[in-house]
Amino acid sequence: MARRKQIKGSLPIAFHNLGSAAAQQIDLAREALYTRMEDRIAELALKIPVFLVNEAQIDAVAPPALQRGLNKNAVQRRLRDALEQEEVQRDRERRREEEISPIERAWDDIQRGEVTDMQEPSPFAYWIRFTPVGLYLGRHSAKPQWSKINSQGTPQPAPDAVDAYRSANTPLIFICPERVIDWANRMGVEPNLVFDKVLYHELGHAYMDTEDAPSESVYDTAWGRVIEESFANFIAFSQFSGIEARHVQRLITTQPAEYQGYLLANRLYAWPPIGGSERYFESYGEFWYYLYHFRRITRQIAELLEELHYHVRPHIRRIAEQLEELYYSLPRDRWGTWAEMDKNDPRRLGDWCWYKEHHRHSTDEMKKRTRFWQMLAAQVLLRMG
Ligand SMILES: [Zn+2]
Repeated sequence: MARRKQIKGSLPIAFHNLGSAAAQQIDLAREALYTRMEDRIAELALKIPVFLVNEAQIDAVAPPALQRGLNKNAVQRRLRDALEQEEVQRDRERRREEEISPIERAWDDIQRGEVTDMQEPSPFAYWIRFTPVGLYLGRHSAKPQWSKINSQGTPQPAPDAVDAYRSANTPLIFICPERVIDWANRMGVEPNLVFDKVLYHELGHAYMDTEDAPSESVYDTAWGRVIEESFANFIAFSQFSGIEARHVQRLITTQPAEYQGYLLANRLYAWPPIGGSERYFESYGEFWYYLYHFRRITRQIAELLEELHYHVRPHIRRIAEQLEELYYSLPRDRWGTWAEMDKNDPRRLGDWCWYKEHHRHSTDEMKKRTRFWQMLAAQVLLRMG
């Protein structure tokens, strides 16, 4: 008892138990919980209260949309069809501007798709039932009424925890230690490690929460969810190293599909390089190689146009040779796929936050960016194996 009191006064993160009997099995005073955290994530952790809740409580506060997750096989099949349709559409003479793209239509279908049981997922249901372990309520979310959480099972929370909840504002985090322990037992992983992974994941959402504009509508799309959850898991995963990181990767394999793109969302690179045709490269290096040669050739065409009446034939021959060289130097089997950027490139994450903040502007640029994220989410899903 004395130990608990002492810890309570000295913890840098505000944890409050609102009714979780299993919470005492998590050691919130462990050094590792705090030392692993990157400073940027820790900075948020110091500001955002974390409420420990039991299963009935987390289900009471989690929106229905968060009680389902993507069924990988069904979603992959739908997206693969959509990519084929993209090819067909691209081959048509001209696409009308307002026409909805096959990928966008696929994501809309998925969003409205039915939910099935996790144990025996129907291959045609896009969603599986899923029980949330943690929950981040962003600065634009409404805080659930205390009455929603109160009387959801035992034990009775301590009065100071109730006061803390009553006086808290969003953003805030809920974590369910019962589900943390259940997940840990299923995977044979130390419960404290699972707890930390969940906490860092929710802090990852906090890191991506935007200042000015509500970003819920992006998260409400199936593709937005793939990007957001993949990034949140990427941030969580990045806090660990060694054997702990491997355990975290094992935990992630048991999550729904949208959580599994944690290594892909940051690395894949989509680029519409030439003439509006959308081609994707397997590696960033490959992309730059292509771009280098393309620039070299266009420069030569410019030279050629300048001195059109001199030496025309050798110029044309040289350009043709180089185009041919370039064509054969690109691995054919990779043509049409995506690129891996340098590891941990923070620009992509920054792009995502920027997009969330500005996506409501219906400019041409935002339309292109929306398409970029829809395509990226599709490729992330398809590349996760
Ligand atoms: Zn999440």
